[in-house]
Amino acid sequence: MKDFLLDIVSLIYPRVCVACHSSLFKHEQHICNRCYITLPKTDYHLQKDNPLHKVFYGRANVTAASSFLFFQKKGMVQKMIHALKFKGKPEVAQLLGKWYAEDLKQSNTSLTYDYIIPVPLHKKGMQKRGYNQSEYFAKGLSEVLGIPVITNVLIKYRFTKTQTNKTRAERAENILQSFSIENAGVIDNKNVLLVDDVITTGATLEACIIQLQKSTNTKVSVASIAYAQ
Ligand SMILES: [Zn+2]
Repeated sequence: MKDFLLDIVSLIYPRVCVACHSSLFKHEQHICNRCYITLPKTDYHLQKDNPLHKVFYGRANVTAASSFLFFQKKGMVQKMIHALKFKGKPEVAQLLGKWYAEDLKQSNTSLTYDYIIPVPLHKKGMQKRGYNQSEYFAKGLSEVLGIPVITNVLIKYRFTKTQTNKTRAERAENILQSFSIENAGVIDNKNVLLVDDVITTGATLEACIIQLQKSTNTKVSVASIAYAQ
């Protein structure tokens, strides 16, 4: 009976893959198996001094940097990011977090973190979207790795509107000024993993790392769902 109802529901609201829009089988969630096996993984967690880590050289003190996927314009990852960011499907971010955590677990890396900290959204952004996609990614990682997520330390206190009318330097300065730290003692002497949805220039993470390292002796590593080279 339950299966029958599910069949009816999927007739009305067809369940499709967020990446290729083909119909999903019952056992598939959000992303079809064909897309799953062709995910463009970076495997940066296996590579010390990888290209993403180099993004932060001379800018912020990062212990390790990795990303689950490569972001390709008009590719499947862009469609996934669009779905989890703008189409009310944060569960996609959570699923990707779980998959990434499985990879990390298998390679025995990243199991020594004390906390996972998602890049925060400003209150206004939160109201507008209703959720923070990076927090869902963090939740997925947390479920598999057993590392707690904390959201009361890194705060976004300035709402950054579209910055198209600003110069690159002005934009960078603006981002740098928009985060702050609270309850800094919570992460004193801790090893934290800062997570974001997409890394492009690294400016957002740089701003967050500067805040996190205002606490005492805090090691920060970064991970994202996707990296746009
Ligand atoms: Zn698909």
